Amino acid sequence: MLLYNSATRKKETFIPHEEGKVSMYTCGPTVYHFAHIGNLRTYIMEDVLEKFFRYEGYDVKRVMNITDVGHLSSDADTGEDKMLKGAKREKKTVMEIAQFYTDAFFSDCEKLRIKKPDVIEPATNCICEFIDMVQGLLDKGYAYIAGGNVYFDTAKLKDYYVFNNFDAEDLAIGVRDSVSEDENKRNKTDFVLWFTKSKFEDQELKWDSPWGVGYPGWHIECSAISLKHNGEYLDIHCGGIDNAFPHHTNEIAQSEAYLGHEWCKYWFHVLHLNTSNGKMSKSKGEFLTVSLLEEKGYNPLAYRFFCLQSHYRKSQEFSFEALDNAQAAFNKLVARVAALKEDGDVDEAVVAQYRQKFSEVLGNDMNTSLAVTSVYDALKADTNDATKLAILDDFDKVLSLDLVNEAKKYNEKQTSAPANEEDAEIDALVAQRTQARKDKNWAEADRIRDELNARGIVLTDTPEGVKWSRK
Ligand code: AMP
Ligand code: ZN
Repeated sequence: MLLYNSATRKKETFIPHEEGKVSMYTCGPTVYHFAHIGNLRTYIMEDVLEKFFRYEGYDVKRVMNITDVGHLSSDADTGEDKMLKGAKREKKTVMEIAQFYTDAFFSDCEKLRIKKPDVIEPATNCICEFIDMVQGLLDKGYAYIAGGNVYFDTAKLKDYYVFNNFDAEDLAIGVRDSVSEDENKRNKTDFVLWFTKSKFEDQELKWDSPWGVGYPGWHIECSAISLKHNGEYLDIHCGGIDNAFPHHTNEIAQSEAYLGHEWCKYWFHVLHLNTSNGKMSKSKGEFLTVSLLEEKGYNPLAYRFFCLQSHYRKSQEFSFEALDNAQAAFNKLVARVAALKEDGDVDEAVVAQYRQKFSEVLGNDMNTSLAVTSVYDALKADTNDATKLAILDDFDKVLSLDLVNEAKKYNEKQTSAPANEEDAEIDALVAQRTQARKDKNWAEADRIRDELNARGIVLTDTPEGVKWSRK
């Protein structure tokens, strides 16, 4: 299996530390708000990766943290704790916020058919592990205490910048919010392992430690949680590309300094979901959630389908137009599967042949769009329907589009099809929208599209004009 490794910037053959086993770590959500569909793009691609490892016969142990303390507004240790910000916004305690958004996250994952990791570990469960690791780093001379906080000393490392060739100017702060630099740091790239002197006296969660009452830095959480559950040698670490620096860079620095040997061999980074205004992010205030897509009448699996159509190492542009097209294509696919009949014996040789092709495309750096093409190829195969259904079932172990079930639902809906009167009304609305677009009356065209959307209708532009279908 070939996989691009962002640590070496090369496609490499994946060879795990222990034959047949994969230890996998995924940076989990910071549970101060709903996950947006950009975050979920990353989790969908990681889910496909995990399922593909299993498909290829590996025994996978996947660990994910839940960040419920210590992730500050800037990834570079400044600004307010995001959890506290969420608690203030909703006038609740940090733990109430954490529970609510953790549940919301897994409910979104379920709708998108993202499997739950084998281990889910909230950071607040592992304070002793964080303290032990920070103490270990102090004992080995990789950390220092300044202004009450414990810092990692990046000057002690031969090689600090693994992923990115940032220049000094970029590294000066490396933050997104307008915040001032921490004067306690000996080097600009040093980072906090344990906070005691927070600028924010109302920090809600604090624990006793050898260095005073305080709370852990965000980076130490992932290193210590991974070590706790996956041991000293991690095969693959995943996250969105924004995590590469400083978060993952700092994870490598502290884990390898602590262990005294290489820690994680493969790094898997998913590029961002962007809108026409740039990266989708929570700090921008307005963001799209799975619930919002559902309210607008989309099937969450159409969003999964949309994500699979593009490669994880390319950023993906989101627009409702693009999602409409994905929903329409997904509907058509479901309709084709719905037409298949259980018509005899499965031809295992044909299944094996398709399985091999599918495995080849995913085994070449996770080419999910070609994997989706394999689904269409299977539908065109020169074989009986029972064999086609068996192939689709097999592919679904990785793609998780639930096509066979969706097809069942589709068939049920067809038997209770709406009256033609409604179809005529929709035709009329579509025609009005086309006219509004011709007149460059975009507001009216959008209004009609939203109205149709709310009624469960998706529009698709085709060379023969606009076509509509039900979600
Ligand atoms: P957070 O909850 O902010 O810690 O982020 C959860 C995951 O989503 C991390 O792996 C981020 O790197 C990733 N992420 C954040 N924004 C985006 C985006 N616009 N597109 C894809 N992934 C993202
Ligand atoms: Zn992490």
